[in-house]
Amino acid sequence: MYLDHAATSPLRPEAFAAMTAELTAVGNPSSLHTSGRRARRVVEESRESIAALLGVSAGEVVFTSGGTEADNLAVKGIYRARRNGDDSRRRVLASAIEHHAVLDPVQWLGEAEGADVSWLAVDDLGRVRLDWLEKEIARDPDAVALVAVMWANNEVGTIQPIAEVAALCAQHGIPLHTDAVQAVGTLDVDASIASSLALSGHKVGGPHGVGAIVLHRGLEVESLIHGGGQERDVRSGTLDTPAIAGLAAAITASMGDRDDRVERLRRLRDDLVARVVHDIDGVTRNGDPDGSLPGIAHLSFQGCEGDALLLLLDAAGVECSRGSACSAGVPQPSHVLLAMGMDPVGARSSLRFSLGHTSVPHDVDRLLEVLPAVVARARRAGSSR
Ligand code: PLP
Repeated sequence: MYLDHAATSPLRPEAFAAMTAELTAVGNPSSLHTSGRRARRVVEESRESIAALLGVSAGEVVFTSGGTEADNLAVKGIYRARRNGDDSRRRVLASAIEHHAVLDPVQWLGEAEGADVSWLAVDDLGRVRLDWLEKEIARDPDAVALVAVMWANNEVGTIQPIAEVAALCAQHGIPLHTDAVQAVGTLDVDASIASSLALSGHKVGGPHGVGAIVLHRGLEVESLIHGGGQERDVRSGTLDTPAIAGLAAAITASMGDRDDRVERLRRLRDDLVARVVHDIDGVTRNGDPDGSLPGIAHLSFQGCEGDALLLLLDAAGVECSRGSACSAGVPQPSHVLLAMGMDPVGARSSLRFSLGHTSVPHDVDRLLEVLPAVVARARRAGSSR
């Protein structure tokens, strides 16, 4: 039973077909001859379909190696371009619940390049506090190089008030980067509201190792990768035509079945949460029950270690996630849950079950068959330590 779609989702048949059609074709999209022009056409058609689905123009879509690169390019590239224009523009405001692909480059800018970093607080449901953002901007708006707030959180699933965040940034002419890796293909994402937006192939049923960044026309970004000048000189490197074709096919397919899938996943997820809470004592749900990604159920199991639960479930044939990283083999409480006000012990007792396009009711039934005994065992192990 695969209940870890937020980590990576199985390849969609449409993406598989688009990729395999390209894998045996020759042609560098930068070459001028017939084979090169054919590959270029595939890349540009892919770019156009992704742009149309996100409400932007094709020239604003830059292909990358995935969400992490897109986030790094936005955070470092926008910061450096803004600072180059005015050396006093060194403030970076980022939500405290960002994925590490944003969190770490922001931290790095603070340590290595003298950025003045402020983390934006979230409420207990994981929503960024707009009053906090407003206050932080008001402190010295001209010195803010960029704001980073994700579209939807990858651990607890909370959807952020991104339109309001964008409006606040726009009032002061501050670029907003949004990590929409978990939102694209599931939520109604209008990329034109942010200055830059990151997306990733393998979260939408596309291939691994490919993604894109939408860079608003007129936004200055300093390149991180120099070379052949591909992708408007913003991101050099020979384009991966099969992966790009697979990415476009996956996004197109996920937009095509979005409404039905979202409805189905919401019902399945609500059923999962209701049954787990009913069958097992001491379970609490995390995140915003009224504003979450439809496929994510994030639960805390009082008296358990999340890692123990995860491994016992895996042995019983159910794959899920802690939702947060392990550092050097030591389980760390999630920075997202801590930012939401949870204590470290509670944070370590949590698991994320995430559903996606291949999920069926039997997955939830099977989880419910094994989970009560697994939780009981993890609690016994916890109390005997
Ligand atoms: N941002 C979010 C919210 C994610 O969930 C992930 C993947 O876990 C990433 C960024 C990184 O994307 P990629 O795996 O394509 O580098």
